[in-house]
Amino acid sequence: MTASAAIAPDAAPFTARFTCGEGCDFQAPLTGVIYHCPKCGGLLEVEHDLAALGARSAAAWKATFDGRFKLGPWPYGSGVWGKKEWIYPQLADANVVSMFEGGSPLLRVDRYAREIGLEDVWVKECGVTHTGSFKDLGMTVLVSAVQEMRARGTPIRAVACASTGDTSAALSAYCAAAGIPSVVLLPRGKISTAQLVQPIANGALVLELDTDFDGCMKVVRALSETPDIYLANSMNSLRIEGQKTASIEIAQQLGWTVPDWVVIPGGNLGNASAVGKGFTMMKALGLIDRLPRLVVAQAEHANPLYQATTAAGVKPRPGVTVRPMAARKTLASAIQIGAPVSAGRALRALGALDGLVEQASEQELADAAARADRAGLFTCPHTGVALAALEKLAGRGVIRPGERVVVISTAHGLKFSDFKVGYHDETLPGLRSPLRNPAVRVAATLGAVQDAIAARHGRVTRG
Ligand SMILES: *Cc1c(COP(=O)(O)O)cnc(C)c1O
Ligand SMILES: [Zn+2]
Repeated sequence: MTASAAIAPDAAPFTARFTCGEGCDFQAPLTGVIYHCPKCGGLLEVEHDLAALGARSAAAWKATFDGRFKLGPWPYGSGVWGKKEWIYPQLADANVVSMFEGGSPLLRVDRYAREIGLEDVWVKECGVTHTGSFKDLGMTVLVSAVQEMRARGTPIRAVACASTGDTSAALSAYCAAAGIPSVVLLPRGKISTAQLVQPIANGALVLELDTDFDGCMKVVRALSETPDIYLANSMNSLRIEGQKTASIEIAQQLGWTVPDWVVIPGGNLGNASAVGKGFTMMKALGLIDRLPRLVVAQAEHANPLYQATTAAGVKPRPGVTVRPMAARKTLASAIQIGAPVSAGRALRALGALDGLVEQASEQELADAAARADRAGLFTCPHTGVALAALEKLAGRGVIRPGERVVVISTAHGLKFSDFKVGYHDETLPGLRSPLRNPAVRVAATLGAVQDAIAARHGRVTRG
């Protein structure tokens, strides 16, 4: 196959539609303003025509995806739109709203791996992207779908979301790029400054509510009952389609091989379900020959999935009941969620990928983030939760030294500089900072600087 044939958008009649995630027979086109099954109330899923996709060989799909990856003509160089036939095949290219999302680095972190007794650990840097979190992967699909609906005359006035910070940043940026009004509902005082200033800068209507995320979610759900306000939260299954490309990229970046484990932090649990969907779709279409095991890591302060499974001695699988709880304050603010909307979807992913659920205390997540930073990373607190879970599972011998692990890093550490500063100043409430590295104040003289270096690294030879 020539390079241009591999890159060109495919004319074959691939299709996708909404179906009911609870398995009843409801279906609707992707251009419908709809989030739940009207028959049973279940969340919707995007279902692809796997027979049509499967008529092309796995080798041909790999060649197509590799030919486009980060190089393809706009928007096919995007990590998401390079896989358009698997995401939203019928969408007109002209309606794609892309910020060149995806294609994020997959880093091998040998120093960190050795530190925690493992050998083959990788970090998928989903925070290295336009708005600094993996939310871009899903939002490009959702906002493109809105653009398509508006182009067909659907009267959507604005797109709205409730957010713990990163969703609103992504929504505002993509809407601003497309010229679509956005409205974001944020829990007042519960998100970082960097997260708050992003939607402000992008021109969204930013509403701060005196409640937590779950409270904002209730309001936005009621708000989107009128069809002219489109709901952008992750119950909207279009976002899952974009987010699943992170798992396709992991396989692609490992030469179309599969790690033994994927570890991911979970809040609303949409992203964990997206990982499941990406791997199962690749396996169904023959691009990979096995599935990784999945670890969902929760903050101990917001751990409804952990309570329902590991703490109760119950294997995570479909049918397990996840009871809503009041989430307590956690440094991992983006996963401070007590009533995860996508718990059912995540349990399906955990069932399919022989998964586990682990949790991390505030001390554990802060230390794990600092430990990874010492090995060159710059991790957000949610990635800290995933790393802490990895350390605990490695410590117990569940994850073994020779096994290949990919940790999904969900946001850029620079969005959470208050967390970093607090750790290294040892001012995070109730925590110690055993790995802190505070700046050293010294006099502006050669001698004082040499003494400071000597104190850290031993005496230097004076020239
Ligand atoms: C949204 C978010 C999560 C949680 O993802 P869910 O799909 O809600 O489980 C984790 N980390 C960061 C940085 C996020 O923004
Ligand atoms: Zn249904």
